[in-house]
Amino acid sequence: MQASSPPPWLDRWFANIFDDQESSHLGSGWWSGVASVFLGLLGLGAVVTLYFPEVLSTAELRAKYPMPQLRGLIEAVIGAAFLSGCLSLLLRRRKVLGFTGIALALVAVLLGGGQVPIEGPVEGSLYLGLDWFLLNLFLLAVIFVPLERLFPRVREQGPFRFGWTTDVMHFLVSHVAVQLLTFLTLLPASVLGEHLVHAPLRDAVAAQPVWLQVIEIMLVADLAQYWVHRAFHRVPWLWRFHAVHHSARAMDWLAGSRLHCVDVIVTRALVLLPLFLLGFAQAALYAWLVIIAFHAVFNHVNLRFRFKAVETLLVTPRFHHWHHAITPIDRNFAVHFPWLDRMFGTFHMPDGEWPPEVGIGNHPVPEGFFKQLLYPFRRGR
Ligand SMILES: [Zn+2]
Ligand SMILES: [Zn+2]
Repeated sequence: MQASSPPPWLDRWFANIFDDQESSHLGSGWWSGVASVFLGLLGLGAVVTLYFPEVLSTAELRAKYPMPQLRGLIEAVIGAAFLSGCLSLLLRRRKVLGFTGIALALVAVLLGGGQVPIEGPVEGSLYLGLDWFLLNLFLLAVIFVPLERLFPRVREQGPFRFGWTTDVMHFLVSHVAVQLLTFLTLLPASVLGEHLVHAPLRDAVAAQPVWLQVIEIMLVADLAQYWVHRAFHRVPWLWRFHAVHHSARAMDWLAGSRLHCVDVIVTRALVLLPLFLLGFAQAALYAWLVIIAFHAVFNHVNLRFRFKAVETLLVTPRFHHWHHAITPIDRNFAVHFPWLDRMFGTFHMPDGEWPPEVGIGNHPVPEGFFKQLLYPFRRGR
């Protein structure tokens, strides 16, 4: 791992724990050790959330949690952290990974594990989305870490590739600040109100079958997204914000999280605006939110598959990796439908090829979450 992100002590700590001189191959106790630390952190985070649910859990999610199953999941995660820690201790000469994972699991258990009681109704108007962060991180890591390990496009690129701590910080902040981001994202739609669009048209839109609405949402959203995204590339002061996303020098499931909050808020607000004005039903909007959340992550993954059967119809990792190519620039703006780029003359996907290098030439954007937050406002760029 290369030093990449402030604060420096965090980098040193990560480097010390994950980047020892011993082998990291399967059977060396490295993967079990890393899994132990990861699961231990997740379990401990979940237990802390149980202690302060009113300020650490997302209001929209907490109302829907099946608590008995969720408590079972938390206990299973802590148990798995403990077991994989033990496995790492057995396999590996250097014990720091195994002991760290076991220590985290132990603290989680001593604090009450998954059985920490929640008293009374949980109410609180201001909250951080720690639960959303932990759940999404767990889900994405469980799906993509093994897949990227088994079928990598760039074989030598491990999970702790260049810039990963920066991306983890982006992922953390974009999830924990979910309430603020959602509020700002929905602000234009709530200010403009619903009266802009003829009420009978809104009723007709919402009366359609949900699956049809989801397809229509994908079309409207990607059309809006295409032009907003293209503007972020072409307008110099907007590019300063979007350059943060393109500063990633390695593609994987975490790389897509690297986004400046101004980019996130403006893009999402302008994409959601037509959807709200047209009056799509809430069920269809929620279904699309799940699809877009997954598709945006999926487009960045380090998987060698071409998905040839669908690549003319739907955006695949290969299409979006070309968007991140150092050259050519300003191609492949769509998130769902690559044929939008064909329509508007920005399509680039040479048959069977992947971009040799991703990022921005000369790497103008610094590594590190806070440096990237300030980057668009700095003078003398
Ligand atoms: Zn872009
Ligand atoms: Zn991207």
